[in-house]
Amino acid sequence: MSKAHVVDHPLVQHKLSILRDKNTGTAQFRQVMDEIAMLLTYEVTRDMPLGTRKVDTPLQTIDAPVLDGKKIVVASILRAGNGFLNGVLNIIPSARVGHVGLYRDPKTLIAVEYYFKMPDQMTDRDVLVVDPMLATGHSAVAAVDRIKSTEPKSLKFLCLLAAPEGVAHFTEHHPDVPVWTASVDEKLNEKGYILPGLGDAGDRMFGTK
Ligand code: URA
Repeated sequence: MSKAHVVDHPLVQHKLSILRDKNTGTAQFRQVMDEIAMLLTYEVTRDMPLGTRKVDTPLQTIDAPVLDGKKIVVASILRAGNGFLNGVLNIIPSARVGHVGLYRDPKTLIAVEYYFKMPDQMTDRDVLVVDPMLATGHSAVAAVDRIKSTEPKSLKFLCLLAAPEGVAHFTEHHPDVPVWTASVDEKLNEKGYILPGLGDAGDRMFGTK
């Protein structure tokens, strides 16, 4: 049984089918990626804490519920995570943004960090780590390891598609970090691509192939 939270809303599933289609071009891919990221963000923020602020309606003053967007960090795993940012930030415009860049050393297969930048005061912040594809899970595990070293208040991992192998690897290393996705697909192929998947998410959103 998968340990991921799967967002099975019909709008999400419909948009995912457009992204899977190999005939969907770059411009539409990007547009739909933004839309699906917004819908996934709506679900993943469901339990976010609310404060209040005084609001004068035309009739009276109330303590109205408000989200403290500045406390939220969207941490993008480069480069494909950046394709998710637009949509997430459309919904949480005042969120701070962090970036993690990792590459796999071809000899040792160990994830090597080439970029890391988070906002300050991470101990006060709730972090949403974004990467469209949770495939082997190696870079997700390494990115979350590194983000945990800043001691954030909470962490969630949001992806568009996951492989069962990636979910298992990730939750083994970070059982305290919930994974949210639109689908847990069938499996990985021998090259580490998700099947049926949607191909290389970075290439498709940035038009690099
Ligand atoms: N990264 C991708 O972009 N696609 C996959 O299928 C796996 C990893």
